[in-house]
Amino acid sequence: MGSTGHNEEGQVVFGASEASRLAEELRASFISCKTRSYEWRRSQLKNLLKVAEYHEQEIIEALRSDLSKPEFESYVQEISMVKNSCKLALKELKHWMKPEKVKTSLTTFPSSAEIVSEPFGVILVISAWNYPFLLSLDPVIGAIAAGNAVVLKPSEIAPATSKLLAKLIGEYLDTSSIRVVEGAVKETSALLEQKWDKICYTGNARVGRIVMTAAAKHLTPVLLELGGKSPVVVDSSINLQVSTRRIIAGKWGCNNGQACVSPDYIITTKDFAPKLVDALKHELESFYGKSPLESKDLSRIVNSNHFARLKELLDDERVSGKIVHGGEVDETKLRISPTIMLDVPQDSLVMSEEIFGPLLPIITVDKLEESFDIISSGTKPLAAYLFSNDKKLKELFVMTVSAGGVVINDTTIHLAVHTLPFGGVGESGMGAYHGKFSFDAFSHKKAVVYRSFVGDAAVRYPPYTKGKLRV
Ligand code: NAD
Repeated sequence: MGSTGHNEEGQVVFGASEASRLAEELRASFISCKTRSYEWRRSQLKNLLKVAEYHEQEIIEALRSDLSKPEFESYVQEISMVKNSCKLALKELKHWMKPEKVKTSLTTFPSSAEIVSEPFGVILVISAWNYPFLLSLDPVIGAIAAGNAVVLKPSEIAPATSKLLAKLIGEYLDTSSIRVVEGAVKETSALLEQKWDKICYTGNARVGRIVMTAAAKHLTPVLLELGGKSPVVVDSSINLQVSTRRIIAGKWGCNNGQACVSPDYIITTKDFAPKLVDALKHELESFYGKSPLESKDLSRIVNSNHFARLKELLDDERVSGKIVHGGEVDETKLRISPTIMLDVPQDSLVMSEEIFGPLLPIITVDKLEESFDIISSGTKPLAAYLFSNDKKLKELFVMTVSAGGVVINDTTIHLAVHTLPFGGVGESGMGAYHGKFSFDAFSHKKAVVYRSFVGDAAVRYPPYTKGKLRV
């Protein structure tokens, strides 16, 4: 069975002893060396590709059940991303696995040296609910490509996708080395007690700290993919229609704002704000109609807890009178319409935490340069965006704004560039993956030096005479 964690009645039966047994089994499989071979890695990647190719409709249905995710977003932002990652890894695998020859120094002459990419061993992947298919399988692809055994723990907050992943991985992959454990805090805590060779966690920073603390006990390295408040700075020297469309695509067009790289808030000048708000309103209506709560092109809020959390941000008295667009809610359907708030105070709830939903506050400044101080006064975001045609401003933004990634004149699309690392900095995470960076994230870079028995210099051996020191 590929899935571990349920009995025949569907109850979760995964505790400390099951976690310990699972870790032992996978370690034995890794030690047998089967996961190291090129053929094994290739066959597992091919089978993962089949999961995405043959089960598209089931995946779309699971994402609809978990989030009412529009089919277009499920396909473009999850399924095709997984397919592309698999295809790239299959195409490049031989090349990635090849030891990298490097120069040696005079001190070791004669010698040769290379960097060997060695699998860490057994990887634990803990993933989040908002892109539950992509965020579960993308790290697994990297871990398999690098030759590791893997345990995947999908998010319980997206139960249909979690169940489907457990089923499909059980059917398609080698379950002696790749397993899915379904469950919530109890099951994840049992897994975190075990010794893993690397842990990849996607989610919020509070749990990121729990993961890192558990990893420290075994000195296990971690890849933490966290979030934060990703700002969008908007200059007046822009193509207004293209800019607003791209802001909307990154905010409401990405799981209705429930995406780690979605624009969290906008900073623009006092003069330009009314123009920007009008343009946003106009484009929002052209995309989602006059009754956005009914739109099939917007995901719902994932569950009632997150709905209540967002409602609190909306009801905060510090933002009363600041809502210039939207603000409608339908609690029974867990829907909140695209909402814009203008001139919100810095101490409002909506500016104090990551929003992770369809609310978009706008802060206004006299001069755009003030935005640099506003951004740097908070924790380092996962992404930062600038819309401008001003060359100097663009240069300054790239040089001074510290964020996981930066995009000029668009939002979120850096994720699709597989030659770029994807990851956070500071509170938004540590480590990175995607493309070759995924392979590297799950490989130890082993330094190897080759020597022969010739050219054995006596100078390195005792007795350490003064003459030897001067050589
Ligand atoms: P979540 O609630 O699904 O939690 C993530 C995982 O942590 C789940 O598998 C869950 O079971 C586990 N978990 C929760 N509480 C735990 C505990 N006490 N102990 C051990 N494990 C626990 O997801 P979330 O945290 O709501 O995700 C949203 C956050 O994730 C946002 O901050 C977002 O920005 C960030 N995120 C980051 C990325 C990225 O790639 N950097 C992607 C998606 C989301």
